[in-house]
Amino acid sequence: MLTEPMIIDGRSILPGQTRFIEIDVARLPSGTLIHMPIHVFRSENPGPCILFSGGLHGDEINGVEIVRRIIDSSWINNLKCGTVIALPIINVYGFNQFSRDVPDGKDVNRSFPGSPDGSLASIVANILTDKILPHVDFGIDFHTGGASRTNYPQTRFAPIDKRAAEIANDFAAPFTLHSGLISGSLRSTANDLDVPIVVFEGGESLRFDRFAIKEAVKGVKRVLIKQRMIDRKSPKPKEQLVLKNSTWVRADASGLFVPSRLSGKKVYEGQTIGKIDNPYNQFSQSVHSPKDGYIIGHNNMPLVHRGDALFHIAEL
Ligand SMILES: [Zn+2]
Repeated sequence: MLTEPMIIDGRSILPGQTRFIEIDVARLPSGTLIHMPIHVFRSENPGPCILFSGGLHGDEINGVEIVRRIIDSSWINNLKCGTVIALPIINVYGFNQFSRDVPDGKDVNRSFPGSPDGSLASIVANILTDKILPHVDFGIDFHTGGASRTNYPQTRFAPIDKRAAEIANDFAAPFTLHSGLISGSLRSTANDLDVPIVVFEGGESLRFDRFAIKEAVKGVKRVLIKQRMIDRKSPKPKEQLVLKNSTWVRADASGLFVPSRLSGKKVYEGQTIGKIDNPYNQFSQSVHSPKDGYIIGHNNMPLVHRGDALFHIAEL
């Protein structure tokens, strides 16, 4: 049995304890102090420490809801071993403003490892780097597509990271996508600290996607069962496809975009998967798939400019 407390931001969490902690970030111009809220669930028995985080992009609400559902579950409150750190909203500033970024327009997920004396995005990133990641063995960070682009439920990790590959495999999302580390991202800094982070993508920003949320919560359950942290029946996964070489199909013309194949579907090279109509009916142009593969994301915006991303397609 464990006896040592876990110390986060000067607060101690004893084995067997569940604690809600608020880490001070910075005040709003009006003087209101903004906190980063964190839930810690500790078992009395040794085991891995897993981070589940959402809202790194403040408008990606599915991730916030996924972590909220994890916190709300009966299983998380009865861990057989190990620790779960659940962080529903990393970027509280963006969340309150329905925005991906912090108020000065910086992306927290390009500001890692961050600094306590840097920009606001850098300060937020640094709280994770300094106060959370040192405790964590591995994590899953929940995201959605940006702007009006939706993603079919999928996990992403760097192919060189074997441990992340194992976690993604246990999670068993419908799609698993190989994707390189981006400099300044949480995933990249965590990788430098030897903490594998798998990114989950599902749905679009500012819109609930019940299917993606459910798939994510089931994936979390599978991971915790695999780690022997909870004692439940593992939810049966859908067919799990490993994809790579993703490319965006972009609009050849500006107009009204109507997709005819949606995310999750198999497509073939040359197949018509949507159309762009001129609003005055002067032309209608088909959109074709450039290769055989699966649509892992698509644009829900009915108005597109030439060059806009329409479909994200990856190969088996
Ligand atoms: Zn995101």
